[in-house]
Amino acid sequence: MTTSLEDKLKNRIREAGPISVAEYMTVCLLDPVQGYYPTRDPLGADGDFITAPEISQMFGEVLGLWCVQSWIDLGRPNTLHLIEYGPGRGIMMSDMLRSAALDPDFKSAVHVWLIEASAALEAVQGKTLGAAGVPVQWAARLEDVPAGPSLIIGNEFLDCLPIQQLICNDPFAGKDGWVERRVGLDTEGRLCYVKSGVPAAAILTDRLPKGASDARKDDLLETCPSVAQIVDSLRSRFENHAGRALFIDYGPETTEFGDTLQALKRHQKVGVFSDPGNTDLTARVDFAALSETAAAAGLDVSAAVPQREFLSKLGIEMRAVALIRATLDAKPVIARQLHRLTDADEMGELFKAICFSSPGLPAPLGLR
Ligand code: SAH
Repeated sequence: MTTSLEDKLKNRIREAGPISVAEYMTVCLLDPVQGYYPTRDPLGADGDFITAPEISQMFGEVLGLWCVQSWIDLGRPNTLHLIEYGPGRGIMMSDMLRSAALDPDFKSAVHVWLIEASAALEAVQGKTLGAAGVPVQWAARLEDVPAGPSLIIGNEFLDCLPIQQLICNDPFAGKDGWVERRVGLDTEGRLCYVKSGVPAAAILTDRLPKGASDARKDDLLETCPSVAQIVDSLRSRFENHAGRALFIDYGPETTEFGDTLQALKRHQKVGVFSDPGNTDLTARVDFAALSETAAAAGLDVSAAVPQREFLSKLGIEMRAVALIRATLDAKPVIARQLHRLTDADEMGELFKAICFSSPGLPAPLGLR
């Protein structure tokens, strides 16, 4: 019998001691044989969670218009690398390409690149985009996409990047006041959080967000080290060729304390240790930390704008009216989709859009 991912994690902890939260997330989500993403298509009503492009075609369609305007802002290059991080089932890209094709010059310039960690989802993306009418290729990393002007986009991608958790032990001790919360075993051998007894490694506390200095004793801070790597890749890509990166995700505008790592299964919240490798794990995105990191790298950074403001500025209400006119029966469905994407009690306020650009471009459409 094969050893379950849970038992493998427990064995590792028994042999070498507690592991970081980031390692726990990485193994659970990305283990090539038993990890969550590589072994299934988790999206949609029958899956574990649903995302904006899965809710409505309108989401990708208005983003397609954003792409055309951004391409114009870049000076209408003849070749444009349109790169998506974590494309899920490829639906957003398919909807974006359909609306963006209204400009034939954009369509002939576009070369799509998908950066996807899951072979299972890569196969689904291939099917979804098989008839897109533009070249579509996969790249393991941003660095593998040929140089040139680019637009980069990621929806609900940052929230599944591995986070670290730190606890403030002494608010007056600066970097040395933080200890790491790790994943260990309780007395009955079950996975649980454990607080390390020594100050967190410098690599975890070197680049804390500004808001970390407001911490009080026992506050928990989540950091996402992969963000710095992504920003670094963007910076080096944009050094030679103009480009823009748009990320849409859930999280607060300012650094907030608290444990936000959550697991979802069949659209319900479950314990983060309840079924390793079989539940979706995400944590909210700290948009303040993200924009501090990008600004420090010399990128132009927009405000983190609530999804409802962003989509509204891109004309989503007009798109809804047009769809309703085309099929009157669809009115309740489309009204419901619009509500889910934009209402303050649904995705409208919690989700934000943020854009990083190479210096010197006009302000991106729909953002401030
Ligand atoms: N953007 C899609 C899917 C969101 S789910 C949507 O909005 O519907 C997260 C996506 O990111 C999945 O496609 C998952 O396989 C991918 N992913 C997760 N971690 C990744 C990583 N480190 N590198 C590349 N892709 C990753």
